[in-house]
Amino acid sequence: MWTQALTKPDILNLVYLLAAVLFIFGLKQLSAVKTARRGNFISSAGMLMATVATFFFISGGQWISLIWVFIAVLIGAGIGLYLALKIEMTGMPQMVALLNGFGGIASLLVACGDFARTPAEHGSWDSLLATGLATLIGGVTFTGSLIAYGKLQGVKWAPDKPVQFGGQKALIFAMLVGSLIVSALIAARPEDAISNGFFLVLIALVALTLGVLLVIGIGGADMPVVVSLLNSYSGLAAAMAGFVLNNSALIITGSLVGASGLILTTIMCKAMNRSLMNVLFGGVGGAAAGHAAAGAQGTHREFSIEDATIVLDAAQRVMIVPGYGMAVAQAQHAVKELAQELDRRGITVNYAIHPVAGRMPGHMNVLLAEAGVPYDQLLDLDQSNAELEHTDVALVIGANDVTNPAARTDASSPLYGMPILNVDMARNVFVIKRSMNPGFAGIQNELYFKENCGMVFGDAKKVVSGLSAELADQ
Ligand code: NDP
Repeated sequence: MWTQALTKPDILNLVYLLAAVLFIFGLKQLSAVKTARRGNFISSAGMLMATVATFFFISGGQWISLIWVFIAVLIGAGIGLYLALKIEMTGMPQMVALLNGFGGIASLLVACGDFARTPAEHGSWDSLLATGLATLIGGVTFTGSLIAYGKLQGVKWAPDKPVQFGGQKALIFAMLVGSLIVSALIAARPEDAISNGFFLVLIALVALTLGVLLVIGIGGADMPVVVSLLNSYSGLAAAMAGFVLNNSALIITGSLVGASGLILTTIMCKAMNRSLMNVLFGGVGGAAAGHAAAGAQGTHREFSIEDATIVLDAAQRVMIVPGYGMAVAQAQHAVKELAQELDRRGITVNYAIHPVAGRMPGHMNVLLAEAGVPYDQLLDLDQSNAELEHTDVALVIGANDVTNPAARTDASSPLYGMPILNVDMARNVFVIKRSMNPGFAGIQNELYFKENCGMVFGDAKKVVSGLSAELADQ
């Protein structure tokens, strides 16, 4: 029988291979809203398989020796389940930040623990280098994620505004380069276990400080990008821990997390028209709204709910363009009711979703899904722009920067080059917001002074509910 020829490590590696296939398949499914749940389930099943197989083979089939591990797993899973059930949809970025942080500290502890347990076995330079790097990246991820969590949660010890001081960048750079040099030193002298142990503790302390310094200087509104980057770091730290333990499943999972986190970070930076360096060191953020806006000036036209309703009622195609203000007003259910009211009148309704509308990736998708908006009505940037040219009314609900035509036309605008939703191409545009205050970028929106644009001032939830009620009365 061919199975008799297989050794234990062969079977373990086969399980890891199968798990890796499930991870990749799951990731693919995560890229579309419709299949995302299934993708999550498939990837989790892969992880469960790999974990169970690892424990079984480590214990040599003697499950009883792993009793403490299972107790720890049960406690951890219990806490995870409780948090996942309790957390609000809007609190997801905080939760992800914490999970990234735990991933980072786990890699740091695994690397240091393995070194302390068996320093004599760290004979090879590559294993020692991986130990140093897992400690460095894991430490940065842990404290960086805690600060990101604090900023998102609005706690006192992590101010929303960027905290920057003279020489901060130089200090960060010196600490980073210093840690890399010390990691290389550890790898260069495998026989010197005592000084290597000291060096490892030094790297851990520097990494924990570095995480704080890196994230504290970034504004609260940029935290979703930072969390995505830290997610990538936590993957890299896990991959390094995989090299320390010589565990291919951990190396594969870590690399996939590292790569996908970096891809998401790049997509977000592009959609915001900013470089990663600008996000990390630009000190952008700190509540632009409420301040006098730079940018376009002109005269805007104000519409009442009644007037806007008349135009809406005469439309055949309406595009709803949600933004951060819809999230603030928690208007998603009212928006869905308005769409149903329009639909009852035979008006075609779609939703234009900009990749960085709101304050976290997928913010609008999450809110609209929560309200039960059908997935097939959600159009991405390209689909929306193709559709907007044939749209009778673009109804902008609490979105601002993602609709600013200056991104196409004004080379001096900070938004210039950012892909936007071309709502100004629609026949009529109504913008629902409370005032003429700017959005996240702090600049006035050219759109508001265009001839086809009308402002309907008020809280998004109240105005949208008012439109529904008015339509129903007609
Ligand atoms: P903006 O921040 O540009 O604008 C939001 C608008 O909502 C404001 O102008 C505000 O105007 C209005 N608003 C706030 N509260 C309410 C309310 N209760 N009712 C009605 N309107 C309200 O949001 P966008 O979604 O258009 O753009 C997102 C911005 O955030 C982009 O600049 C993006 O780069 C940035 N960003 C996005 C991230 C992401 O992951 N999605 C991450 C980091 C940054 P008023 O005060 O007058 O009501």
